[in-house]
Amino acid sequence: MVKKTLCIIFDGLGDRPIPQFGGQTPLEAAHTPNFDVITEKSLCGLVSTLGRGMRPGSDVSHLAIFGYPMEKYYTGRGPIEVAGLGIQLQEGDVAFRGNFGSVDENLNILDRRAGRIRVVDEFASAIDGIEIDGIRCIVKPGTAHRAGVVLRGGGLSAAVSDADPHAEGLPVSEVAPLDDSAEAARTARVVNEFMRASHRILDAMEANKARKAAGQFPANFLLLRGAGVYPSMPKFNDKYGLKSCCIVGGGLYKGIGAFLGMDLIPVEGATALPDTDVEAKFKKSIEMLDTYNFVFCHVKATDSLAEDGDAEGKKAFIEKADRAAALLANLPDDVLLIVTADHSTACELKAHSAAPVPVLFCNPSVRVDSVAAFSERAFAQGGFGYAEGKDIMPQVMNLMGKLHLIGA
Ligand code: ZN
Repeated sequence: MVKKTLCIIFDGLGDRPIPQFGGQTPLEAAHTPNFDVITEKSLCGLVSTLGRGMRPGSDVSHLAIFGYPMEKYYTGRGPIEVAGLGIQLQEGDVAFRGNFGSVDENLNILDRRAGRIRVVDEFASAIDGIEIDGIRCIVKPGTAHRAGVVLRGGGLSAAVSDADPHAEGLPVSEVAPLDDSAEAARTARVVNEFMRASHRILDAMEANKARKAAGQFPANFLLLRGAGVYPSMPKFNDKYGLKSCCIVGGGLYKGIGAFLGMDLIPVEGATALPDTDVEAKFKKSIEMLDTYNFVFCHVKATDSLAEDGDAEGKKAFIEKADRAAALLANLPDDVLLIVTADHSTACELKAHSAAPVPVLFCNPSVRVDSVAAFSERAFAQGGFGYAEGKDIMPQVMNLMGKLHLIGA
């Protein structure tokens, strides 16, 4: 009987046939003896996370896999990224992504990333907690030039435009309401006032004077974009009656975990880059099954390598992950192992594609099919058939004996 689930999601794992691999995908061409053994003991299928013909972003495809349809719960990337920075979001909060950039005295943008500044902690804390018209503006530093901003206080709307014009030499855009509501007008006014007030504080900071004196771009403006309201939604643990955690490297994926209320478990060497320590992540995931009955482990580099068009790199990284997968070959009988992806990322396109991705369920309680190779093409013959992201959690709940009976 399944008591625990380890769900491994390889970002952008699926791909198109690659001419230099004789028409095989990177996953087909990769030597994956460990995943092949796991596949032989699994129920396999193909999944279009958002449905056929939909080309998924990573955020909405993960939400779909975990049973949160985008129509109901996705209000933009702001709330998800901000959740990953350790801000406990509340219903009605409006969250933004932010960049620390450099402006001149006329608020013309000199550099959108303050010369790719590496650490912005002191700048973020200098403008954290400003109050405007009863609205508290919470600022948390992200990686490099990035930050997250939450407006809290009620009566707000996410229907406002971006301040970031996405180009140098242009003035900072005045944030405007995108509908006729009083809430949107108020939010736009608060955002504009917050950005001006924070500019005055940032520009006067000694750290920025020192940057200018050294010929560096000052971090004297926080450009906001991607407004999203935090929706009222059940946490993953409450929705499924599970105790969950996540082991993830990248900021967006920390955000997805935090957004769903999963505990974030740090792993040394989890960089979200091709040099990431996949073995350490798998090891920690297995260890966490002692404490949690649902562990989500995310592996990013399959996607980033394909976005660079690097089919060889993607194949080599899959082989590296396969070596680490030796750890997964003999999990206890009460552990359900899921290996899947959020979407395909085609090296040919250097972008996400709508093609479905493999999913496998490995446990003695599943009806094993005849698929024996870990690849897109082989999985088309699998017993799970052709499914969508929303079909994955019901499968988990069914195997755990937790699905509600319909009818008598
Ligand atoms: Zn992705």
